[in-house]
This record gives sequence, structure tokens and C-alpha cells, in this order.
Amino acid sequence: MIRHLYVHTPFCAKVCPYCAFYVHGGSVAAQREFAAALRQEWRRARDEFPLTPQTIYFGGGTPSMLSAELFEEMTELIPRQARDDGGSNLSEFTLEVNPATVTAKKARTWRAAGVNRISLGAQSFDAGMLKLLGRQHEPGDIAETCALLREHGFNNINIDLIFALPGQSEAKWEETLQAALACAPKHISAYALTYEEDTPFFEKLKKNEWQQNEAREIAMFECTREILAAAGLIDYEISNFALPGFESRHNLAYWRGDDYLGLGPSACSTIGERRWRNVPNTRAYADRIARGESVREEMESIDSTTRAKERIMFGLRMREGVARDAFGADESRLKELAEQGLAIEEAGRVRLTPLGQLVADSVAGMFV
Ligand code: SF4
Repeated sequence: MIRHLYVHTPFCAKVCPYCAFYVHGGSVAAQREFAAALRQEWRRARDEFPLTPQTIYFGGGTPSMLSAELFEEMTELIPRQARDDGGSNLSEFTLEVNPATVTAKKARTWRAAGVNRISLGAQSFDAGMLKLLGRQHEPGDIAETCALLREHGFNNINIDLIFALPGQSEAKWEETLQAALACAPKHISAYALTYEEDTPFFEKLKKNEWQQNEAREIAMFECTREILAAAGLIDYEISNFALPGFESRHNLAYWRGDDYLGLGPSACSTIGERRWRNVPNTRAYADRIARGESVREEMESIDSTTRAKERIMFGLRMREGVARDAFGADESRLKELAEQGLAIEEAGRVRLTPLGQLVADSVAGMFV
């Protein structure tokens, strides 16, 4: 039974210089062709698997740039019952939205399709930082977009933010956090900037035009925890903060190691002992679907030991932690983490300490 569905929309109005996702521009005709191929892939998946999504996540890319009509077409395969009454199965349907891409018509269509959670790609409330990030919106667009979404019944809004940006001071980051809180989101995701290979940002780092500053990053991370905790947002995962009851169920499913199916070019899936990625090329994706061929590539067999290790790696990042029993053969590593004060065990579960959270990536590396 597949309970978690991800849909990748590869279109963006402009590619941001730090982004490593599979994204590109695209005419309305290209978007139509993509939507038709996606529906076909969705139908095939429905024939192949028992597909009863409890969570759906439309990410990208910028799915909010698609017209209301195309979005309606893309989502027509979601069972009617789930759309009309919240459904007994579908409890969370998230749509990634970029500020300033929302219209009243689109918002109405999203609600009618069953979307009940919006993830807003704000990234910063500082005009200079938004410019540096190559974003298309101004700080004022974020609050306006939140207000428009609320008018149309979207109460569950996440705001995505990035910190440790080149030239960003701690004071500026605090201002961004406070501005985000003023929009009254139920959830905030705050990630330190990652310099992904093959991006213009990575080139700047390589040429030494920019430097990373670990101390500044840690200070910003700590101030994030403090400010958001004071506002009642719980850090249920290292980079994710929510008011009680507004944790992202879809992302929790990933972190808990549940199966998920990804549709669309470059989308990844993990089902039982199989993992694959769809072809990361929208043209090839649409052509293969039209010819009745598979779009799956990079097929990988993952055994139960690998999945168990992954559950530990992701589970440790969550406040709920990992069941003590899950460590099995990795017992010695657990002891090592406890001795270094990086993890603690409470009521049969293990999680990172605040100190461990600062070096979470290195901890995860111990279980690779
Ligand atoms: S809008 Fe998001 S997905 Fe699109 S290029 Fe920018 S960061 Fe990447």
C-alpha cells in the first residue's frame, strides 16, 4: 500500500543560482505536455500499486506557476471523496507556492482540488538577500501572499527560509525570523545554505569569492531555535518547527522511513526493497510516457539493513528520535554518541542532544 505521493513539477520562471533541483523554464505548451504525461504516469501507478495516499506533496520547481486549469487537470485523479470531505485517507495535501505567483482563481482551484497545506518559498524577508538568491519576489509579497491564501481558506501555511547567506549578519537573520513570525505561519522550515555542486553559488565558493563560516552558521542556528521556541514553534526535526499538530505528515513519513512514490521527471521513489529515480529530463519523460515505456532509471536494490540505517540517520534528527531497538548491530556507535554527549536515551528512544544537533551531519555519516 502506497500512502505517500510526491509530484515533481520541473518548471520555474527563472532558475535560482543556488538551486540544484531538476528545474527549467517552459512554455505553456510544454507545461500542458508535462501535465498530460504526469496524468498518464499516475494512472499507470494506480494500476501497479494499491495507491491510497494519506499525504500528497506537489513540489518542484514551482507548481504554483501552472495555470488553474492545468492544476485541475493534474489533480483529477485524486479520489473525489478525498477532495470533498478531507477523505478518510488523504489527510495532508501540500502545495509548494512561490510568493507573487498566487491569484484568487488559483487559490480557489487549489482548495477545490483538496490542497490543505501551503509551503511558501519565502527564503528571506530582506530585499538584498532575495536579490542575491535570484528570487522573483519582494519581501512585501510574502505577507500579501499569506493574506490572500488565508482569505481562501488556507490556514496551514509553512514558510521556508534559508540562513547563513553570504553577507548576512545575525541581526538581519533575526529580522527575517521575526518578519516570518509576523505572518503567523503554523510551520517554519529553516535550512542553512548548502553550496550544491554545479551551481553558480558553488563556483563563487570554489573561487574563494565567498567563504563559509561555521561559527556564524551555528550562532544563527541557535538563535533560530530560541526565537521560534519563544513563539511556540516546536523543533520536531532539526530544521523544521511547527505549532503542535501542524508538523508536516508527508515529511515525517520520509524521516520515519515509510515507502513513498514519486511522479514526474527526476522524482525519486522508495518502495519495499526498490528505489529509483525518474528520468531527469522533461522531454524524455513525456516521450517515454507517450511510447508506453518506463520512465524509471537508477534502479537500486536496498536491503533491510540499509533501510534500518537510514531510519536511524533521519530518525535521530527528529525530536521523537529512534527506538532504542533499531540500533541492533550499531550498538557501539550509539555508545560512542552517548559518551560524547551527542545523543541521549529516554523512555526507550534515542535522539540527538542540542550539542548533537550542531553536528548532525557528521553523526549521520557514522551510519552510512
Ligand atoms: S524557485 Fe525553488 S525550485 Fe525554482 S529554481 Fe528557485 S530554488 Fe529552485
